[in-house]
Amino acid sequence: MMIILPGVKIPPGFKILNRHNAYFCLMNTEALYQVYLNHPHVQTDTRKIREGELFFALKGPNFNGNQFARQAVDAGAAKVIIDEAAYEIAGKTILVPDVLQALQQLAAWHRAQFAFPVMAITGSNGKTTTKELIHAVLSTTYKTYTTTGNLNNHIGVPLTLLKIKDDAQLAVIEMGANHLEEIKGYCAVARPTHGLITNAGKAHLEGFGSIEGVKKGKGELYDFLRERGDGTAFVMWDYDYLRNMSAGIAHIVRYGTADAEVTGDAAGQTGFLTVELEQPFTAVIKTQLVGDYNLPNVLAAVAVGRHFKVAPEQIVAAIEGYTPSNSRSQLMEKGSNKIILDAYNANPSSMKLAIENLAKMEGAGKILILGAMAEMGAETEAEHQQIVQLIEQHAWKDVILVGKPFESYKDRFRYFENSGQAAEWLGAHRPENTLLLVKGSRSSQMERVLDAL
Ligand code: ATP
Ligand code: MG
Repeated sequence: MMIILPGVKIPPGFKILNRHNAYFCLMNTEALYQVYLNHPHVQTDTRKIREGELFFALKGPNFNGNQFARQAVDAGAAKVIIDEAAYEIAGKTILVPDVLQALQQLAAWHRAQFAFPVMAITGSNGKTTTKELIHAVLSTTYKTYTTTGNLNNHIGVPLTLLKIKDDAQLAVIEMGANHLEEIKGYCAVARPTHGLITNAGKAHLEGFGSIEGVKKGKGELYDFLRERGDGTAFVMWDYDYLRNMSAGIAHIVRYGTADAEVTGDAAGQTGFLTVELEQPFTAVIKTQLVGDYNLPNVLAAVAVGRHFKVAPEQIVAAIEGYTPSNSRSQLMEKGSNKIILDAYNANPSSMKLAIENLAKMEGAGKILILGAMAEMGAETEAEHQQIVQLIEQHAWKDVILVGKPFESYKDRFRYFENSGQAAEWLGAHRPENTLLLVKGSRSSQMERVLDAL
């Protein structure tokens, strides 16, 4: 098979071999979309390929997907999208100038067919939790598609869009970013009609440069909604900076602890968060989430559910039924200990909130087990120092710090180079009747200490 479409330029360095026997085809997005319609399952990992799927041979820092073209075909891929002609397989490969770009353009093309609302969620902390809560609420009433897990980057966003089928009534897309112009790019592909920024805090400072940079970067979602003219933003009204940033967007739905369409507050400090909802209806929502910092996430889900006319009792039931996974604010019991496992990630804002939350909780013996925060760039030292200062404001049964940026405090607290060593120590000194917070950046792998408890 060979299709050379009019207007498609052959990229420099590519030769079309054997025009008559047709080794591969070079395609534009429209033609690629026709292929996708026949094979609507996209895969980027050869280990997961199933019969009839389209394999996109992406490149990463340590791999070249083109090299897996043969493996993908052997595993049953219907077609393999490549960008290096040398890897062509007769009748099976589609040559494009750039595989990643082709994936993104295909996703954008698919998105252009949707007539239903597409909601984008970004922010420094709480994106996945908020997305999952919103998905739970909307799914009670609508066929809702959403990001799987945390697939919120330049590959995850297009893959999420390409999962969406004809039966969709709503889509909720998580967008992560660690530098400027990233959200702008995702918005160009996903073209959200609705959007929510959870917050803009100290996260990914390395890429954004400063907190102002973070706000600007996240604000690209608001910019898109504003520019499209008919956008709707769900805004956490307690945060002045979000109020200001959202000015000029056509429709704004406000949520917060006061002065908003959706209001509520946290009640009680005994483990799971209970939300007393005041507006737009009264309810006591008993969540399975640990930490007051989940209050905005819950209020966001109520606001979105209400906006899309989900019945109040369905909203409450969906939020109460949601249990986090992936070490995000999970409360677990092990022997006589209770553990708040929040080892999925950490940055100064979420670290601070998690420590303050533990300090507020009932119970005498509390132990902090904290892993270092990654991607802090030049702020690394100062940010870890602030965390230590916060720790010192409260009484703890023990404090265990893990990872280089905490090393300078090893005279004041128990210190280990990595979580494996911390686990060893805990295994030898098993705490009892204790409330433990386990938190750190993904790279700290703080969940490793669990086995020792
Ligand atoms: P990622 O950048 O990894 O995608 P995320 O923004 O999706 O993270 P979640 O996975 O929902 O965030 O939550 C990660 C952690 O952030 C939680 O375990 C908690 O410590 C903290 N967190 C959650 N919600 C909030 C919030 N509204 N404000 C501040 N911190 C929060
Ligand atoms: Mg996430």
